[in-house]
Amino acid sequence: MARKTTIRNDDDEPDEPEKSAREGIGSGRGTTRDGGGDEPDQQRYDDELRPSRLEDVVGQKAVVERLRILLDATKRRNEPLGHLLLDGPPGLGKTTLATVIPRELGTELQITAGPSLSAPKDLLPYLTNAAYGSVLFIDEIHRMPPAVEEFIYPAMEDFRVDITLGDGLNARTINMKLQPFTLIGATTRSGMLTAPLRDRFVNREHLDFYTDEELATIVTRNSRKLRTEICPEAAQEIAIRSRGTPRKTNNWLRWTRDYADVRANGKITLEVARAALKMKGVDDAGLEEQDRKYLHTIMHVFAGGPAGVQALGHTMNIPADTLEDEVEPFLLREGFIQRTPRGRMITAKAMAHLGISQKQNPKHPRSGSENPDQRELFD
Ligand code: ADP
Repeated sequence: MARKTTIRNDDDEPDEPEKSAREGIGSGRGTTRDGGGDEPDQQRYDDELRPSRLEDVVGQKAVVERLRILLDATKRRNEPLGHLLLDGPPGLGKTTLATVIPRELGTELQITAGPSLSAPKDLLPYLTNAAYGSVLFIDEIHRMPPAVEEFIYPAMEDFRVDITLGDGLNARTINMKLQPFTLIGATTRSGMLTAPLRDRFVNREHLDFYTDEELATIVTRNSRKLRTEICPEAAQEIAIRSRGTPRKTNNWLRWTRDYADVRANGKITLEVARAALKMKGVDDAGLEEQDRKYLHTIMHVFAGGPAGVQALGHTMNIPADTLEDEVEPFLLREGFIQRTPRGRMITAKAMAHLGISQKQNPKHPRSGSENPDQRELFD
């Protein structure tokens, strides 16, 4: 069944149709979200604090500026917006932008996700229900099966679908016209998109990690929404430990609020924020248990690397996809690991962070293993 929702322009209170869009997302997802918690809860949390207008979106300045131009031009010409691909690690605002855009255009939004479209027939209702200029958002679009992907090409290009009826000698294809609509695709893996699909998106935007200042702004704004008092130093502390990701920021803010309510007088001070995050195992660089386990595995099981992501996944008992999507992007950006053609390598910065001396690295000559002749190079 297609889920259709109308985005209103007055966004004080979410109305019923909006709720159905949220349910659409929740039921359509096949992977877990970062930031802990089970999926429906995470979805509800995300929706509660999601900015509803483009002006409320913090950071991503260049992307927002380009989108504003596209939206203004679309409104002036009264034409549907060109298809848009949003890519970037989880929790950076792809769904947020996809929900803000139709609201800005005053048009309808339908939401689904790649893993829930197992055959063309699953996509058909969304396409036939799409009104002129409306938006169809497909999250995790890289996980659509090839048959669905091929089915969507003519829909994107010529606003028609080719439906095959019957099979064998009796098979015939009928064409069905669709209303011109906008497809917004979101992916954490633009590299996994086939070239024909990628090329059909006339607009492509990449979302990058946020600065600590931007995340601190999000903490301050959302603490008002949650009616929680927080001091600026605590907001900064939560921001620094959020791995550049607003979803983390919001999750840590909620957790510190709960902690403050139970262990303090409800106000989030710097001490309260630090104690709350320590209890969650978040260190001062924002690394969590899973990140440290990943680094220790490279260090101790693979002698500092190189290690392939599949091998790391098997050793840690975590899907390689999860490592690639949720763990590695931040570690790479912060210089805790390096990606080489032979695999992932631990860096000196990560070893210093974990409190491991260079000499404990089995690859280090002083540890007595390989290349004793080169010892002096390391001293
Ligand atoms: P993605 O779809 O990329 O996984 P979401 O759009 O669901 O990420 O974002 C997760 C949460 O982070 C949202 O609910 C929202 O509260 C917050 N968020 C994301 N981007 C921003 C932003 N630019 N400004 C403010 N909050 C944001």
